[in-house]
Amino acid sequence: MQSSTEQTLVILKPDAVSRGIMGEIVSRFERVGLKMVAGKFMQVSRELADKHYPASRKEFIEGMGNKTRENYADLGLDLSIDFGDKTDAHSIGMFIREWLVEMITSGPVFVMVWEGPHAVELVRKLCGHTLPLKSAPGTIRGDYSYDSSALANFGKRPIKNLMHASGNVEEAVFEVKLWFSADEITTYTRVQEVAMK
Ligand code: ADP
Repeated sequence: MQSSTEQTLVILKPDAVSRGIMGEIVSRFERVGLKMVAGKFMQVSRELADKHYPASRKEFIEGMGNKTRENYADLGLDLSIDFGDKTDAHSIGMFIREWLVEMITSGPVFVMVWEGPHAVELVRKLCGHTLPLKSAPGTIRGDYSYDSSALANFGKRPIKNLMHASGNVEEAVFEVKLWFSADEITTYTRVQEVAMK
């Protein structure tokens, strides 16, 4: 049988830290049976933030731009009011990337590696949709925020959606290596692992 054990990176961003809900969020990953194998509370440098939000990753930049364009269209809002004459997906994505770098370096973050079967998908499911306004009740973003791109972009700031979680297995492998050295990642067994064998 192929192993479905994965590791994924979770960052509790400065908005989650300042709201004092780190414990609430961590407990949701624990109760589903995921295992924290690394964690650190830290101030992020501009250099690390630039690597985490790479300007050169076209699909990431344009993905954010396209989600924003769709959200504005859904709400019947005019992109040019918030973004001037640069309303293509790439330009919008680059605006947002700059806000993200500013936000993630604005205060301490709690960054963790969670491990378990299907860890990447499980964490994303618990996290909920990128836009808290659209994330379902019961998800972390849906339960703790109502932010939207309209509110965020009006304020020229990123969406306060509390956390980052790796988007897919390939991204998770890259991000775990970016934030942690191999000797910071621990090995132990949780009781659920025995029960699920
Ligand atoms: P996710 O964090 O769910 O993987 P993305 O990779 O699309 O989502 O976006 C990265 C981060 O950029 C989001 O978590 C959010 O904080 C911010 N963001 C995305 N879209 C917007 C937007 N339209 N306006 C402001 N911030 C945004």
